[in-house]
Amino acid sequence: MELEQARQRIEKLRVLLDQYSRQYYVEDAPAIPDAEYDELTAELANLEAEFPELASLDSPTEKVGGMASTEFKTVRFEKPVLSLGNLHSFEEFVEYQSRVSQWLGESGPLVWTAELKIDGLSIILDYVRGRLRRASTRGDGLVGEDVTANVRAIAAIPQTLTQPVTGQFRGEVYLSRTRFESLNHQRQSQGIVPFANPRNAAAGSLRQLDARITGERGLSAFIYEVRDIADVLIERQSQALGFLAQWGFPVESHWQVCRTLEDVRKYIERFQQQRPPLDFDIDGLVFKLDSSVWQTQLGATQKTPRWAMAYKFPPAEALTRVRDIVISVGRTGTLTPTADLDPVLLAGTRVSRASLHNEDILRALDVRVGDNVFVRKAGEIIPEVVRVESKLRPPEAVPFVFPHTCPACGAPVERIPGESAHRCTNGLGCPAQLRESLIHFASRDAMDIEGLGEKTVDLLLESGLIHAVQDIYRLTRADLMALPRFQELSSENLVSSIERSRSRPLSRLLYGLGLRFVGERGAKTLADCFGTMDALEKADLAELQEVPDIGPRTAESIVQFFATPINREIVRDLARLGVNMAEPIVGNQKRPLDGHTYVLTGTLSTMTRREAELRLSALGAKVTGSVSEKTTAVIYGESPGSKLAKARQLGVSQMNEQEFLQWVANQGQK
Ligand code: NAD
Repeated sequence: MELEQARQRIEKLRVLLDQYSRQYYVEDAPAIPDAEYDELTAELANLEAEFPELASLDSPTEKVGGMASTEFKTVRFEKPVLSLGNLHSFEEFVEYQSRVSQWLGESGPLVWTAELKIDGLSIILDYVRGRLRRASTRGDGLVGEDVTANVRAIAAIPQTLTQPVTGQFRGEVYLSRTRFESLNHQRQSQGIVPFANPRNAAAGSLRQLDARITGERGLSAFIYEVRDIADVLIERQSQALGFLAQWGFPVESHWQVCRTLEDVRKYIERFQQQRPPLDFDIDGLVFKLDSSVWQTQLGATQKTPRWAMAYKFPPAEALTRVRDIVISVGRTGTLTPTADLDPVLLAGTRVSRASLHNEDILRALDVRVGDNVFVRKAGEIIPEVVRVESKLRPPEAVPFVFPHTCPACGAPVERIPGESAHRCTNGLGCPAQLRESLIHFASRDAMDIEGLGEKTVDLLLESGLIHAVQDIYRLTRADLMALPRFQELSSENLVSSIERSRSRPLSRLLYGLGLRFVGERGAKTLADCFGTMDALEKADLAELQEVPDIGPRTAESIVQFFATPINREIVRDLARLGVNMAEPIVGNQKRPLDGHTYVLTGTLSTMTRREAELRLSALGAKVTGSVSEKTTAVIYGESPGSKLAKARQLGVSQMNEQEFLQWVANQGQK
């Protein structure tokens, strides 16, 4: 390649990689699969090696990926937070080990600590005398984002250690597969685009401006590195892992000390081929030189330490043929393209369908019926089409035309502004949307109508007994008896479970009606706040936005819902058919501090005022600005103001920061 040509390609790759990095790290929405990103990075690194005059310290190959978003306070690291170099085979590891031996001038065996490479995002934690003082993301390795408030909402990360150590620790925040699946299930039922994989879901959940959302997402964490420590001598990485566990940090348990190359080979084999079942994703293994003295001796490059290496698993990919491209219509009318495939074995499972996500991705990939495509398990869970093998394209394959009308009802399709999704405009007039809405309405977390599952819904729709949600409550035993597969007992059972569902609380009904952006929790909050359907229907945008946890988008969606005649009709009919429209007032769901009022004063040293407020309100307490007889207690930090004096005057109890932390920890456990 000519120098000029190389310059142009290098520039293009740098711009492209920076853009992908931003989408990946800042927006938590990767535009391309990781393997493709890694390929482009490797291409750039090769070009820079071939044309050293074009190398630059500013290149993505020289920088720790990522950057701090401006939405958070920033944290400047004293010691850079590095990435890891990577290798892809045991042979490459053997070469790496000989390089390390040479650097060290050692001829004896090297001892490694082998760990799982958790596929989440890095977190850096500062503790002072055993208390969590600050948590930050890695950012670009020099400047990270302050996410302390959010990290306080992650139960796995201790607020207080078992010993009063002062130091800086590093680990990975991740979302378990179980939580990922239930989160995506919930998002789908709210009509929100699901997360692509657990890693992005974890990153999106940690980097929330509202810590309560982080708390709800159920993030987990593993801590694997002592970056800095006062008064404790750590001589080996394996020892560090032992200390971390002892101090109360969550430490991943599959780590192992490898004393020989054979140990390393076996560790790789164990996790690459016969991986034990794990409830979290890993994208490889990490080998770290065990000795801290040697680690220091080897040091680091600008981007990676020399004493550690990631062993990356090859992504599980398989080549197969696209039989058809099918568009399905979801409950909220979203059109999702899926490729029907010749069945193929992929990472141990038989795959015959793969997601094409949306029109933009389908177009970018240019997948056509008859094409041979590579499919891969994205985030190791949902198979997706990665690319077309264009050399194998049959001549008759024509570009896929995304439908302009709904494949289920023929109504026009609109593109949702700001999203890549298309939606059928027919609402509940569309049989596909009606079917999904009925299934959702009857589901366990909504109206919980036992016996009204997918098959029965299909039967009721085919027989013409149901045209709308409210028709469920018009069904009689005789209607059901006339259906195939229904007998006296089954008809009786279904009618009585429909009957029972009439008295479900308003929150369940609201959730069942499937308003966009209103999930189970949102429905409960609305029902608690307004009490009746009637009051909710009358609420305007401003009133709705006053409700805690209800943002402008959700408020807008609620107003829209009640402004649509067909929805008003459903609600009216349901009421007429005897469905309960109110939320019972129950006293048994109390939070520990419900009904208590607190006042904060002075500067707190381990958290900001806002964080303290969040912790209190999560426990049900109200935080106000002035002290009165009604105040439960005043919590004071350094240089408290007149509020503390007033509390003393009125005989209101007072707590200093340390007492407060201890007390909050106890409350949380109640
Ligand atoms: P990396 O993920 O390859 O490796 C380093 C990271 O491993 C560390 O930052 C740490 O957070 C993590 N890790 C997990 N377990 C660990 C353990 N036990 N010990 C030490 N570290 C552990 O490197 P990176 O710089 O964090 O990220 C690059 C990755 O991001 C690549 O896989 C790349 O494909 C992906 N990426 C993708 C896109 C995209 O558009 N798809 C864009 C940018 C980056």
